[in-house]
Amino acid sequence: MNGQTKTIADINAKLAAGEAVVMTAMELKARARGGERLSVSEVDVVTTATRAVMSGTAAMLSLPIGIEGTKPEAVYINGVPCLSQFRTQRGFTPVLLNGTEESRDNHGRYGGGHVLRALVERESVDIEWTAGGRSICTVVTLDEMPFARLYTSRNSYQNYMGFTNVKNAASYRSNPTSIFACRPIPPLKGLAVGGSGEMNPGENDHSRLVIRPGIRVLINGSVGLVAGYGTRAAAEQICLATVADIKGMDPQYMGGFRTSYGVEVTNSLAVPFPITSQEILDNLTACRDEKLTHYIGDLADRLKLVGIPYSDIWHEAPLEVQFDPDRCICCSYQCEAEYYCPMNAISWKDKTIDQTLCVACGACTGNCQGGAFMGKGWKPRRGLGDIHIFDQDIPIIFRQSNRLRAERLARVLKERLVERSFYLVDTDSRCMLWN
Ligand code: SF4
Ligand code: SF4
Repeated sequence: MNGQTKTIADINAKLAAGEAVVMTAMELKARARGGERLSVSEVDVVTTATRAVMSGTAAMLSLPIGIEGTKPEAVYINGVPCLSQFRTQRGFTPVLLNGTEESRDNHGRYGGGHVLRALVERESVDIEWTAGGRSICTVVTLDEMPFARLYTSRNSYQNYMGFTNVKNAASYRSNPTSIFACRPIPPLKGLAVGGSGEMNPGENDHSRLVIRPGIRVLINGSVGLVAGYGTRAAAEQICLATVADIKGMDPQYMGGFRTSYGVEVTNSLAVPFPITSQEILDNLTACRDEKLTHYIGDLADRLKLVGIPYSDIWHEAPLEVQFDPDRCICCSYQCEAEYYCPMNAISWKDKTIDQTLCVACGACTGNCQGGAFMGKGWKPRRGLGDIHIFDQDIPIIFRQSNRLRAERLARVLKERLVERSFYLVDTDSRCMLWN
């Protein structure tokens, strides 16, 4: 590698000796904002991370069901259909569960991502399977599955776009659904933003020196591997394909997600950056919200129209959303904040947000009639702040990335490196672009 001054073996040796200097991306960028320019000899590893809605997620699960030597005709987990293409062997049947597959019984509100979180929370899930014309129901937990692996085909997009209803296109008017909103958006009345900005692994790897097939990463808290760039990666905007064991995952970093289009799935990914050259460190240092452009397009055609700095989204924006029950005006028909919450995190009856589920998307700050949810000030229906574009102030009503959990996972990865339970992988493989 050009300009390399340390090898990954050198850094692993320092990690093993407890002598490595490991920083989170937040720590490095805070020092850079303070005017410091660190050198390659002063830092060994920097941890980056992202957490967001990530389609293209599936799981292969080995279920303790089936009739030996035959293939089930249908399999459902908590009502979500799975793909069953293999015969039962030694009492187990492998099935493929798609993260965005809708429940047959609770369409639009429960799907594959919800099943994955339930499994990781060690809840029992209902399996219904059909073979030889008979349907059988059983209850299973993750610990009864000898194989449970998550595969992602296009996750951790670098600098995802934001969207609003700019053109009020006929296609959107006739079907105002979108994975970028939890309810229809009238023209220029709300903005959905996406991407973790300066925390995103791909964004920090500007020279494409670090992210390679085979490097070890954390996926939803479990040790996994990067398989390569994802199916929609482009030279200027990469995404990743990954694999990880589901059994080591932490539920707070994952789960099902609801949009007006249907169910989605959220994941988290942390990537360690070995500081083997000044160029890698300089790329990390230069990658800052105020310098990154977040493009905004129309919900219907998704073409880029304007760009804003990421700092307009995240500067002074609390990473958690708070609920003040005293501000609730007890809406007569139903609690819209609760109904539209993509994570089902709000209990209006108990007057609480379940912060282990909440992804701080801020939808509630826009949906609550009384302004009881606070993101960036208490302004009713403008809870995440305004962005001045198209000659007007448009409120952010939906964040598809969760910086709180991204930062938390970056800290977890740092702790594992320091505690010597996570080492770096050396490889000279290069990721390929598929587009
Ligand atoms: S939308 Fe807001 S004000 Fe209305 S019931 Fe829900 S929490 Fe209360
Ligand atoms: S920010 Fe509000 S709407 Fe979004 S997940 Fe949290 S509680 Fe639900």
